[in-house]
Amino acid sequence: MKAIEITNLLLHLGRLLSAGSSNTGLSRNQWLALRFFAYANSCSRNVGCFSAHQSTSQGTASQIIKHLVEEEYLEQQPARYDGRSSIFNLTDKGKDVIAHDPLETFFREVEALEDADLQNLEHALRVFIKHFRRKSGGAGVCANCNWVSKRRFGNRDVPSHLNFYCKYFEVDVPDDDAGLLCSWFSSKS
Ligand code: SF4
Repeated sequence: MKAIEITNLLLHLGRLLSAGSSNTGLSRNQWLALRFFAYANSCSRNVGCFSAHQSTSQGTASQIIKHLVEEEYLEQQPARYDGRSSIFNLTDKGKDVIAHDPLETFFREVEALEDADLQNLEHALRVFIKHFRRKSGGAGVCANCNWVSKRRFGNRDVPSHLNFYCKYFEVDVPDDDAGLLCSWFSSKS
């Protein structure tokens, strides 16, 4: 049956992708956590979003993060969106692991796909993730989010600049956050 075959392929791919952690000196869960904090935006780089993303308990998520902080892969900072909360950012040591991402060869394989195949693959993966995480469409970026309001600034003298405003958090989204994954993302479709 095709569905079982495809599901088994996805499981196999998942195992192959997570096996990349063995080159980093981190356990599989620590490596997945570091990747989450490298690619999540600042609204999402917290214990709650990480535990939801990994479908794990807050206690387990806290333990993994604590280890990464103690080993100086992550550092804790006050959250910009909520002064009572903390977010976790990569240190230089953490960035160095991500800069030598063992998935680099896989990225190149994905990039080599035709545009139409890429779009179909992305759509199919989003549908699957949405099925398992019904509260949202999974993670996504501001440009495709239901909560975003886009504002364009500029005039003849100043080049135009597209600014994202998040209606969920009621804040402007900094430029360096706009392309990162957000756990609060809500799909427009
Ligand atoms: S607009 Fe959407 S994706 Fe962007 S920060 Fe807000 S909730 Fe997250």
